[in-house]
Amino acid sequence: MPAKYAIHHKTAKPRFRPIGKLGIVDWREDCSSCHNCVKRDCVYRLYRDEADTLRDEAGYLDYIYQCKGCLNCVQNCTKNILTRVINPEFLRLGDGYYTPDLILSTWYQAETGKIPVSGAGYGGPFSGPGFDSMWTDMSEIVRPTRDGIHGREYISTGVDIGRKLPHLAFDDGRLKVDPPPLAETPLPVLFDRIPRHWNRGAVTALIASAAAEIGTLAVLDEADHRENEAAARGRAIPFLTAPHPETAQPGGAATLVMIPDGPDVLEAQAALKADHPGRIVAIRIPADPAAAGRVATLARDGADAIFMAFDRHGRENGSAHPRHMRDVLRDAHTTLVRQGIRDEVTLIASGGIAAAEHVAKAIICGADLVAIDVPLILALECRLCGECERGQACPIALEEIDAEFGVRRIVNLMAAWHSQLLEMLGAMGIREVRRLRGETGRCMFFEDLERDTFGRWFGKRKADA
Ligand code: SF4
Ligand code: SF4
Repeated sequence: MPAKYAIHHKTAKPRFRPIGKLGIVDWREDCSSCHNCVKRDCVYRLYRDEADTLRDEAGYLDYIYQCKGCLNCVQNCTKNILTRVINPEFLRLGDGYYTPDLILSTWYQAETGKIPVSGAGYGGPFSGPGFDSMWTDMSEIVRPTRDGIHGREYISTGVDIGRKLPHLAFDDGRLKVDPPPLAETPLPVLFDRIPRHWNRGAVTALIASAAAEIGTLAVLDEADHRENEAAARGRAIPFLTAPHPETAQPGGAATLVMIPDGPDVLEAQAALKADHPGRIVAIRIPADPAAAGRVATLARDGADAIFMAFDRHGRENGSAHPRHMRDVLRDAHTTLVRQGIRDEVTLIASGGIAAAEHVAKAIICGADLVAIDVPLILALECRLCGECERGQACPIALEEIDAEFGVRRIVNLMAAWHSQLLEMLGAMGIREVRRLRGETGRCMFFEDLERDTFGRWFGKRKADA
């Protein structure tokens, strides 16, 4: 049995004090200055650790925004002067998709490399839009085989990228055809190009180095790819916006290259493979309402891999009523299955993958693997405040980030995601992530449950009619 794939994590403390969720407001003017003040009993030492802030506090309110919310000090203060509040700065983090809780959880994972545990049960809504209306089936969680992370059982998270044969043909026991080349990645997560306003200082280089360290691949603009150390290690995918095969070696010696979709895209693919028979070409298409049809056409005509680019919130492009990638991926996957060509092409989904659970859910909906960008920047302490897009100073000085520190934070985040993926696969009774693709029998969709449970009495929702 090959050695288990593992991502080793090492604590990487943030450079800046993270914006915490909960705080304690201290109405100090009523304080009796007890000798046994409950603040000394905080098991997380928050009052001591934040003493530097408190000492300089001019007003009579103290804000302790790393509070874990145990309420010990609030309940035991004899004068009842302590109150737990939600940090207003926390509530301003991110947006409706990259929620403050999700950002805080990503920072925690990037710091520790560990699975986030919320404690005190799940406090979120029953259902929500997009991936929040899918529940994965954890019915195998009680089985003794559920020992994926630390146990004896091997659960594979590796996937192949490239075209596959529809069937094998043998002649006198020998394979009659040469199978097309495949690239393997041990994690079904690629690192996508990051938007220009985040491409500052060492950011692109350190993202590529982190990809190389954990054995996955990073998509880089061609200019970044030429000088990159990860490219030298074969773990980078150059994005060739203008592949001119007649000019000198587009993409250099890269095994995997990416090109944008266009009318002559398959001719460009053939030209890029002409001098490199072992090369794999991924075609990047915008995920719009016509995407399922385009995916099927490209797959039928010989595409190796198709990269579906959704927007930052996982919605399709070019639609007044955009669907979430959950539905678009199911559409594309089902179209390929109906045509009997699903196994021949690799589908990669990017945009809107914000948490480890989204990786598993996108794969259940039909992707072979996913690509991420925003979580990589969050791992580097970004607050999604948008100041850099407006040309203002960055509160976490992203442009000054130390490459080694940045690599460690991203590796930690992927270690936490990998552990969560193993937990989910183990609980679903699935031993390799390849088998999860399109496996909708391993999850439940809110609208199906609602229709089956209430549909016969209340009919269809008006929005569905
Ligand atoms: S509520 Fe608990 S964690 Fe928060 S400051 Fe008080 S004792 Fe510490
Ligand atoms: S913290 Fe704000 S300014 Fe800095 S990189 Fe993130 S979005 Fe840009």
